[in-house]
Amino acid sequence: MAKLDGKVAVITGASSGIGEATAEALAAEGASVAVAARRKDRLESLSQRIEGNGGRVLTVECDVTDEGQAHDLIRQVERELGRVDILVNNAGVMLLSRIDKSLSDEWRQMFDVNVLGLLYATDAALEVMKRQQSGHIVNISSVAGRVTNPSSGVYSGTKFAVNAISDGLRKENVDDHLRVTVIEPGAVATELTEHISDDEAKDAIEGMVNRMDPLQSEDVANAIAYAVTQPARVNVDEILIKPTDQA
Ligand code: NDP
Repeated sequence: MAKLDGKVAVITGASSGIGEATAEALAAEGASVAVAARRKDRLESLSQRIEGNGGRVLTVECDVTDEGQAHDLIRQVERELGRVDILVNNAGVMLLSRIDKSLSDEWRQMFDVNVLGLLYATDAALEVMKRQQSGHIVNISSVAGRVTNPSSGVYSGTKFAVNAISDGLRKENVDDHLRVTVIEPGAVATELTEHISDDEAKDAIEGMVNRMDPLQSEDVANAIAYAVTQPARVNVDEILIKPTDQA
């Protein structure tokens, strides 16, 4: 019997990178997976791969910055898959720039997706998990949730917020036996940097990543799979995972 047989996992931002790899990893452990993001076509091809490997999958087009859509995602998963055991709040954007570049639309977008989107999905999932008296919320933070650098101040601010929210969430829900884990990856080779509009910041981060052997999405997915396959008495609070050659 696989470790997550009978469990239902929801993964936001599953159309690429870490979210996509996590959906495949949790499905391989036996979970039914609900994969959510805005790019439906990417979700469909992921879904076909998971089903081809014998997995059960539900695809949901969802913009997590819309509170109603984030709540509907969780409701739809409970309705169609019966439960919500694991929520991986992975959807995120990293629009790096110095603060004096005044890219305020990008500040808003980062807080909307990385912080508020996470809260909206969590809010709806908590209601289900409290009823179940079990559940596990995994929040994808970052090394940037512990340290900040020029051009990453605002992005780091969102990830510091993810860490604080996760700690509060875990403490608030111990009596309901809910688990909360924060994952803090270093550099991972994904599409994340492609959306950076500020050339100076984009060149700097891509140069840094090119000088190392970055993590692959599967490496982070394995860390998430580790956290969610522990016995119910075990809460893995935090996993910091970096490329070997990242200082
Ligand atoms: P990707 O760009 O590959 O994935 C980001 C995902 O977020 C996509 O699936 C995207 O889907 C989704 N997303 C973005 N905006 C929204 C939205 N409004 N609603 C729903 N989904 C959204 O990057 P990664 O896999 O690297 O990023 C995943 C997480 O990992 C992020 O939280 C990121 O901050 C974190 N992280 C990444 C690191 C790295 O080096 N790559 C390091 C540390 C942390 P779509 O566009 O289809 O909606």
